[in-house]
Amino acid sequence: MNLPKTFLTTTTVGSFPKPDYLKKARTQLSKEEISQEELERLEKKATREIIQFQEDLGLDILVDGEMYRGDMATFFAEHLSGCKISGLVRSYGNRYYRKPVVTGKLEWHGPITVDWWKYAQSLTEKPVKGMLTGPYTMMDWSFNEFYPDRRETALAFAEVIAQEALALEKAGAVCIQIDEPAVSTKIEELPVAVEALGRVTKNLKAKTISHMCYGNFAELYPKLLELPVDQLDLEMANSDYDLVELFKKTPFTKEIGLGVLDVHNHSIESKEIIKKRIQTILEVIPPERIYVDPDCGLKTRTMEESKAKLANMIEAVRELKKELLTFA
Ligand SMILES: [Zn+2]
Repeated sequence: MNLPKTFLTTTTVGSFPKPDYLKKARTQLSKEEISQEELERLEKKATREIIQFQEDLGLDILVDGEMYRGDMATFFAEHLSGCKISGLVRSYGNRYYRKPVVTGKLEWHGPITVDWWKYAQSLTEKPVKGMLTGPYTMMDWSFNEFYPDRRETALAFAEVIAQEALALEKAGAVCIQIDEPAVSTKIEELPVAVEALGRVTKNLKAKTISHMCYGNFAELYPKLLELPVDQLDLEMANSDYDLVELFKKTPFTKEIGLGVLDVHNHSIESKEIIKKRIQTILEVIPPERIYVDPDCGLKTRTMEESKAKLANMIEAVRELKKELLTFA
């Protein structure tokens, strides 16, 4: 077995729990008890802490933790012309959020995430991922009052997100994640997602990743491989690795972001369970194409749970790497 220099690279999907002082500060800002500058100072403090947290754990590719943003669609929409933000809309269960409303031609007026990426990257020698929300998901999570149909809306979002992605690359990002959690929910629209995401990734030299939450993968696969990114990051622990059977029938041809930690579960996966999960995938995908991470963002867990889960994940990878090198 010929092992490359890097294999079984560890990373996370994007979000981490926000510290209490940051949640409090956001409430205070809404009541005008603190200034925007004060909030930003605390967002930077939280970003520094989360970079240090990942360094201490020993992760290979870091994220900024998304301390400066709430919802992943509205954050981008707020910075685009042609977009307004709706009042509170009820989503799954009892959660309420604000939805973007497309009311005119979507336009990009300059970097939205680049300063935050630069700040996070300045704190570490390890690569920090650029983080964007994909055009299909932006469209699916917005109300459209301007473009003729869903495809045109997704393509319009693609134009602005492509500019943001290029700005991130120009700033030095070597890894850009373009999340498409909505893709797995509407199988019949996969061609729209493929076309729109293609417009974002076509001029990028950086490694491109797309994260997807769990969906009906049995129907989506292998068509999913048409998504024009280098790496598909899939929620797999939560679904008990039912995808492996599909990979045996049709080989997975991209890099995989392999979810090994269930983010919806309080319990801490043992090192042994995590190793077993990775070994299952090693049967169908070579180690240099496997990136080990949690199923999804960790914002729904506590910091203690996140730390315990990730520590076991890193230890599992360390042991597996050793074993692979021994038997190579
Ligand atoms: Zn997810």
